[in-house]
Amino acid sequence: MKRLRKILVNTATAISLVLLIAVSVLWVRSYSLSDQFIWKSKTGWRSLSSGTGHLIVNVLVTDWSERPGSPLGLEYRRDQAIVPFNYLMDLNTDATDIDTTWEWHGFAWYSKRTTRDLIAMGVAPFWSIAMLAGVLPTGWTILRWRSKMRTRRKRGECCMKCGYDLRATPNRCPECGSVPNASDPHSTLQLRAKVERPQALYLSRQIIR
Ligand SMILES: [Zn+2]
Repeated sequence: MKRLRKILVNTATAISLVLLIAVSVLWVRSYSLSDQFIWKSKTGWRSLSSGTGHLIVNVLVTDWSERPGSPLGLEYRRDQAIVPFNYLMDLNTDATDIDTTWEWHGFAWYSKRTTRDLIAMGVAPFWSIAMLAGVLPTGWTILRWRSKMRTRRKRGECCMKCGYDLRATPNRCPECGSVPNASDPHSTLQLRAKVERPQALYLSRQIIR
């Protein structure tokens, strides 16, 4: 169970890391060009595109089964950099249309529901997506680092107080001045004593003989 959890966490972290890299690439590119991934089906289209520091999701829900000459499936397009704006406002409006507009610090949601179809657009700044994608890799790195430090402290390689590397100066921490506790079974001094005592005993026996 613990092993399975570890595999799941590692897989999720790897996926998050790939996502973070992809988002970062799209983010940087979004200022010079717009990457657009469009999925067309009989029920309309959905698209993901970049626009100057933002990720834009577009959805059109309509009946496209009778639509002639429109290739269905996934399509990639590249365009010049675009600034996300509420283009739904420019579409032909009818008195019965239901419009939704929500904007907050770079996030936005616009939708227009007509008698025939629904068209919607969601906007989110790339920094927010990068932050979300970065949560797992950052947490994973911190946990790994802490576990490594814990192991090193147990081995007496690090200061118990400030975590400074004591391999060069095992008797006193040059960073905070604390002296490793000799009675601590994990401290360097104690570990050394364990190694040195049998050696001393061996040597003393040699001398007596
Ligand atoms: Zn210290």
